[in-house]
Amino acid sequence: MTTYGTRVREPVDLLIHGETVVTMNEARDQLTNGAVVVHDGRIVAVTTMADATDRFEPATTMGGPDTAVIPGLINAHQHLTGDRLLRSTIPDDLGLGDALTQWALPAHAAHTGDLDELSATLSLVEAATNGITYTVEAGTVAHPERVLAAFDNVGVGGTLGSWGWDVGDGPHAGNVDEVIARQDATLRLTAGHPRVDGWVTLVGHDLMTDELVVAASEFARTNNTGLTFHMSPSPADAAAYLARTGRRPLAHLAHLGALGDHLAIAHAVHIDDSEIDAVLDHDVAVVSCPWAYLRLGQGITRSFRHRQLLRGGGRLALGCDSENAGDSIDILLTARLFAGLVKDSTGDPTQFTSGQALALATIDAARAIKMHHEIGSLEVGKRADVVIVDTTGPIWTPHADDPIIALVWASDGRSVRDVVSSGRIVVRDHACVSIDLGSLVIEAQQAHHELVSRCGAHPRNE
Ligand SMILES: [Zn+2]
Repeated sequence: MTTYGTRVREPVDLLIHGETVVTMNEARDQLTNGAVVVHDGRIVAVTTMADATDRFEPATTMGGPDTAVIPGLINAHQHLTGDRLLRSTIPDDLGLGDALTQWALPAHAAHTGDLDELSATLSLVEAATNGITYTVEAGTVAHPERVLAAFDNVGVGGTLGSWGWDVGDGPHAGNVDEVIARQDATLRLTAGHPRVDGWVTLVGHDLMTDELVVAASEFARTNNTGLTFHMSPSPADAAAYLARTGRRPLAHLAHLGALGDHLAIAHAVHIDDSEIDAVLDHDVAVVSCPWAYLRLGQGITRSFRHRQLLRGGGRLALGCDSENAGDSIDILLTARLFAGLVKDSTGDPTQFTSGQALALATIDAARAIKMHHEIGSLEVGKRADVVIVDTTGPIWTPHADDPIIALVWASDGRSVRDVVSSGRIVVRDHACVSIDLGSLVIEAQQAHHELVSRCGAHPRNE
């Protein structure tokens, strides 16, 4: 311990130095030559470098003068298993729904526990190296305990869910009691975990009975946790609900009493004005996955209702979805696309700044998943989820004082240099330090070949 006169510097685990520290706090403060100080997995100070070096004695110092420091990023809808091992193998000229039925579902049906852990580890390594420290798992999980092991392997946080549906005979479909029992088992599996929270997770669409969605919503409320499912990425769900119930999907779910602030719906693209009102009235969060809609041609440019949800004060977050609906896990790239869609669809370039786009990947996403007390900004007391961005090189030249425009419009996950998750260094100099990438790549390549042959998802010309 170093002393200066009578002053004793406080020993801490980590000091992160940034030329600019982008806090994403309520005032959107940015500190020039700033520091984030971390101890026991939590942020204990966000201050100037001069103040931090005066007050603290860090065991480790990271960052430096050529960096921007931002909060850990949040991906609020990601399938960690299944088609991750079919990355860029699923053709991009399939008919609507064929990528799901011909590739994703057979892949899930063929998944062993080993494949679940392998694909989730691969997904989370990619996420971490692109600055994502919290991932809402979309519930395509046969073996949740192996996906939890993947979260532990990589050292990042997120939610864990189990694939739940009671219509049809797809993988792991069951009756209401069986589905709820699976959700209960997932919550018990994650109870007390420092970084991973169990969520109630259904497939959604028209693959859940009224009884199941009501039971799942009640189960999530009772257990004070989140609920997520898919709805209306295309017009098909509205057609199915209108035929079955006479109501559009979100109007029907409101009628059942299943909507609430515990619910984060993936997509909600093709919704009408009454459904927008239902989302806003019940404070339901919506997760927009724009790359998925574009790759699958689902019509986000024809029905960009997410803009109206934002204007109405709705809680939104961004997701990267899955490989049958997009081929990268990079939430900065997604934030850029979302910002462009807002500007273009309104024909008004004054709409939606890069700061708002970064908020959708950080603090606003945290609000959408009700984790804003823990993550989403660099503030004292929160989890130390911190991303160090390398601001050297051609992308960042010339060098602007405010890094946010470059971060959203010029850059993406490529600029992420180091990542800290709950105080633990998980990415250093662009590489995930918590796993052996070389052996992971070999295993993934082997599994890819086996999976393609086992699930019968052959390229279209075979
Ligand atoms: Zn999805």
